[in-house]
Amino acid sequence: MLDNYVKQGKLKMTHKKLMVSLFMMLNIHQIIVSQDTKNVDEQQQEGSVVTDEQIHDILVSLNNEFNQYEHASPQEGYCVTIETSPVLKAKLTPYGGKRSTKLLSGVSAQTTESMKKCRFCKNSHNSVQSFALIKFENDTTYVIKSLSHQLLVIPVEHYDHLFSTPFEMQVTILKNIFTVRQMYSKDVQRPIEFHCGSAAGQTVFHLHGRTGVYIQ
Ligand SMILES: [Zn+2]
Repeated sequence: MLDNYVKQGKLKMTHKKLMVSLFMMLNIHQIIVSQDTKNVDEQQQEGSVVTDEQIHDILVSLNNEFNQYEHASPQEGYCVTIETSPVLKAKLTPYGGKRSTKLLSGVSAQTTESMKKCRFCKNSHNSVQSFALIKFENDTTYVIKSLSHQLLVIPVEHYDHLFSTPFEMQVTILKNIFTVRQMYSKDVQRPIEFHCGSAAGQTVFHLHGRTGVYIQ
């Protein structure tokens, strides 16, 4: 029902939030959202909107910085942090010192074998439909709640980490993260994060964006 309202563009952001709360109160866990629903004028007035151009620019600069490291001095791992308050700001932090192996430490090559064992691939293949907390209309990503109750945006397809992911998919993931943060704005507690490599704290080697939104 919610997605029908959203598709028709009849649901304003404030109403959408109410609907989300209502759905959660009713214990209906899955919400389907469209990416084309933002009422940009309304959100710009609220000062909460992040434009497609800003998302694009953030990712270009992060990829450039990553490539510079990889070219000159490859690191064991990298943590990406994107803060939205007081200003939109992205940062790439290297972890664990200089890398001697070819692959980013702890990140396996994409093989059928490694994907068979991958927890997030299993979610994708088995039952994204029933498993996901939020499922985006374009069907390329889904959202789950981690053990620490943080919402994670995960691509259905397997990519090891942010920088081994095609740029267009990086854009989709980050857009969806911002959508989740807007939907749950009162529950946003931390910046957006991507941990790339075990040295940077990655434990499941299937890309997942940490939204910074914690829910019960
Ligand atoms: Zn996977």
